[in-house]
Amino acid sequence: MTRPVTIEGMSEHATETRTLRNFIGGGWVEAAGSETLEDVNPATAEVAALVPLSGEADVDAAVRAAREAFPAWRATAPQKRARAVMALREALWANREEIAQLVTADMGKTLDDARGEVMRGIESTEAACGIPHLLKGENLEGVATGVDVELVRQPVGVCAAITPFNFPAMIPLWFLPYAIACGNTFILKPSERDPRPSEKIIEILAGVEEIPDGVVNLIHGARDAVNGLLDHPDIDAISFVGQASTARYVNERSAATGKRCQALGGAKNSLVVMPDADLGVSVPAIMSSSFGAAGQRCLAGSVAVVVGDEARQDEVVESLRGAASELGTGPGDAEGVEVCPLVGPEARERIVGAIERAVSEGDEVVLDGREAGPADGGPAKTMIGPTIVEAADNEGELAREELFGPLLAVVRVPDLEAALDFVNGSRYGNAGSIFTTSGEAARTYRYGVQAGMIGVNVGVAAPVAWFPFSGWKDSIDGDLHANGNDAVEFYTRKKVVTSRWS
Ligand code: NAD
Repeated sequence: MTRPVTIEGMSEHATETRTLRNFIGGGWVEAAGSETLEDVNPATAEVAALVPLSGEADVDAAVRAAREAFPAWRATAPQKRARAVMALREALWANREEIAQLVTADMGKTLDDARGEVMRGIESTEAACGIPHLLKGENLEGVATGVDVELVRQPVGVCAAITPFNFPAMIPLWFLPYAIACGNTFILKPSERDPRPSEKIIEILAGVEEIPDGVVNLIHGARDAVNGLLDHPDIDAISFVGQASTARYVNERSAATGKRCQALGGAKNSLVVMPDADLGVSVPAIMSSSFGAAGQRCLAGSVAVVVGDEARQDEVVESLRGAASELGTGPGDAEGVEVCPLVGPEARERIVGAIERAVSEGDEVVLDGREAGPADGGPAKTMIGPTIVEAADNEGELAREELFGPLLAVVRVPDLEAALDFVNGSRYGNAGSIFTTSGEAARTYRYGVQAGMIGVNVGVAAPVAWFPFSGWKDSIDGDLHANGNDAVEFYTRKKVVTSRWS
């Protein structure tokens, strides 16, 4: 590896920066074309690597390798495939700190958060180790005289995953272990913004001898690589995570060639704070939900729906302001930092622009991160401190649009019914939380809320890997989610055999 260079130094030292390679058929290969993008550390603006923009030829080579590896891998006994995934789990575990460090360097989140992300990815790998049990079929004896019916699950074939920047280690691991455990072969196309954790995971996997060449492949790139995967006639299934607009596009385009698709999209999650909520529990949970990873989580709570009379609402808003103003903003590897940089300078511009529009439309800035964070955004112009804005319009941009930054909108409502009306008015339905000490309120919320991942006195309601990651509405296209039984359902086809033997 060569030494990283700064953006300013790019033209002078570009040749010293390492260009990433694809991993196809068990070997590291250069992409066919010469176009690249810079992989930039969001805290420092250092260019860590160049990301090749793979195209059709690279995708085709990966598909051929995966297709070639498929018959033998499919024929490998499920318990042997499980052992291969267990070996992968052991290797990931042994290298977990190195992966976490890369997540921080490439995506920007704090090291603690990155460690948590890697743990979550390892848990998905652990869940896939149970595959022999998960793949067992069903049968029904004697549906007619001498006639029995049996359902078996078979792998789908060649599966690809296209993943976003915000969980560069965990999200590839939502898909890869389950896909191969089910007997499929696999191609990963990580985010072009922070592909190095994926590269590390594949490097680790390459050392696992139980996983034969061609079973897992890696393609770097952006739109052309994605289109190549979506259009390729020999890919059977696409898993996608990213923005809602991209999810819709991926779902529609992959359907044109008859692929099955699960496309997890964006989010705008609300946190309902009831009049009886214990603020000692709720406020720290909201801080972590809204400002952890600088709000760049699909489970981030970006609207606080404050329920009660005016005095209670004022008390809650003041508690949120007080706690948020204590949070440290800075590079993810620095001590005492809770709010990390955004993924790139354009993300900061987007958030600042949204705050400016909100102010011009009458919203009140309760805490201004443009001043609380490094005033100039830090060396990479990516930092902004926690920001809280009282939304004048409950249907305005801050209340309804995904902005993906450390920006919490406050909406005031009189009661739980009004809170649910507001929450359910969202086009998204990824996650939502209620903070309350009332079982009845929690039950009413849980029953009526239109979202797939629900927290009760929990700010980030992330299901563990044995459950599906279950967004609703525009937070998903396709019907099967990542992880849990949904993953097995997605990565297998069912065959129902009716037999007569007498
Ligand atoms: P993104 O949609 O920009 O990119 C995701 C992937 O799609 C990348 O690999 C990228 O190369 C590819 N891509 C982007 N634009 C494309 C285009 N026009 N044509 C073809 N391919 C394209 O998403 P992002 O900004 O990397 O990730 C953040 C988004 O992901 C947020 O909206 C967040 O809510 C969402 N997300 C959702 C979940 C979930 O479980 N629902 C989880 C994590 C992130």
